[in-house]
Amino acid sequence: MPEPLPDPADERHGGDAAAEQAKVDAAVETVAADLTARAQKAGGEGQQVLEAAVLMAQDPMLADDVKARIEAGSTGERAVFDAFGSFQEQLVAMGGYMAERATDLADVAQRIIAALRGVPAPGVPESDEPFILAARDLAPADTALLDLTKVRGLITRDGGPTSHTAILARAKSIPAIVGVTGILDVEEDTVLALDAAAGTVTTEPDAALVADIEARIAERAAQADAPITDGALADGTKVPLLANLGSPKDAAAAVELGAEGVGLFRTEFLFLDAKEAPSVEGQQAQYTELLEHFPGRKVVVRALDAGADKPLAFLNDAHEENPALGLRGLRALRASEQILKDQLTALKGAQDATEADLWVMAPMVADAEETEFFVEYGKGLGLNTVGVMAEVPSLAVVADQVTAIADFVSIGTNDLTQYTLAADRMLGSVASYQDPWHPAVLRLVKQLGDAGAEAGKPVGICGEAAADPQLAVVLVGLGATTLSMTPAALADVRAALGEVTLDEARAKAAAALRATTAQGARDAARDA
Ligand code: PEP
Ligand code: MG
Repeated sequence: MPEPLPDPADERHGGDAAAEQAKVDAAVETVAADLTARAQKAGGEGQQVLEAAVLMAQDPMLADDVKARIEAGSTGERAVFDAFGSFQEQLVAMGGYMAERATDLADVAQRIIAALRGVPAPGVPESDEPFILAARDLAPADTALLDLTKVRGLITRDGGPTSHTAILARAKSIPAIVGVTGILDVEEDTVLALDAAAGTVTTEPDAALVADIEARIAERAAQADAPITDGALADGTKVPLLANLGSPKDAAAAVELGAEGVGLFRTEFLFLDAKEAPSVEGQQAQYTELLEHFPGRKVVVRALDAGADKPLAFLNDAHEENPALGLRGLRALRASEQILKDQLTALKGAQDATEADLWVMAPMVADAEETEFFVEYGKGLGLNTVGVMAEVPSLAVVADQVTAIADFVSIGTNDLTQYTLAADRMLGSVASYQDPWHPAVLRLVKQLGDAGAEAGKPVGICGEAAADPQLAVVLVGLGATTLSMTPAALADVRAALGEVTLDEARAKAAAALRATTAQGARDAARDA
């Protein structure tokens, strides 16, 4: 994968600022037109990402900064480089989701500078043979348009699990692993085996590994042709398979992939760029659009989960040293109660206007008192079904108290793992702790599953763990009643559930609980 263009020299232009500005304007126009064309070709999630890149290229604040720098004497190239670079630094300083958008901005800047130089923008190399692409990071513009007949897999050195590379690769079902240090030291044309499910890359794999991988690829292809059925175990036990969504626009694709409803609608994704709290009417329109895709089906909407990796300007304004341990989720909503009231009012409006079965839950709930607050508040505003997410370990510790109050519990394994193992989910250096197979996490899931069964309340899973087919089986064995995941994962999970009975899933779960490490739990579940 070509390296980025060299930085433009810090030079002055010859004095004709207007001519320099005209060149930049033309380059921005070329890049915006190119990205718009790519957006139309990509469709779906790729289209949204590329349309956002067009907006970045034409951002008026950035344009003003570039203009000021040209007027102060900078060349066009340098002005673009400096203006975009300074905005990128601000995004990185914000951390989390915003920091990962900095990569997108860097790509737009590179494209404008390449257009000014009259050279092609760095991109994916052409090849006649299928290949695994290894890169420092991949621009969304490239990921969205990857030639699926050629690119068999993706490995990047940079990027976290919520980077656009990871999100788009998942949506396109390209096996991808991000954050592999050392991948750039691997020589071109080296044979690689990439197992995205296990998170491993093997250079020069032996014949046995190649045969194993080829068998799994063939099995997967056979599954893709299988008819879509509702989620169920081999003995007929129903396990509804639901979709995790961040926009009503993705609902139709999820239904096509067999989603039986929505298990997690991340409402904060609608408002990441909003400066002010969204209105009741505006929200109601979005929620109604979502619910209309699921008549007679369950749709679980989460109240705004602002803070940490997903800061919202209108809810999180104080600087916090440890935002993951700060005023996030339900805590932030209680501190700004009008925002909570408006959102739940909008949801009640959408509930009444559609045929969907709307369930509403709060993120980052710590105990029975917070559960009671949210359930009473939601019901007081007319919501039918109100529950909580289990993401903070304390909630699992008092699971019996919580299931006595909430209509349902949904386990967010991403945060539950982060907090149980005390490892920031955005930090590459502790990524090995972010493993939901850890027996400590599994034991908390079991506690929640048992409490739900005792109280007769559903306990679903909506973290990434539900998308791992083998772990999905174990989670059902621990008591999960539904599984919600990125729609691209539905087929593999459906197939894995169909292979085991409830007794077998429980035996695998029991074996995993006895292990002492995450890897030990994986091995024990496989062999049980
Ligand atoms: C989770 O924490 O597992 C979850 C589903 O919520 P999010 O990933 O949006 O924090
Ligand atoms: Mg979470």
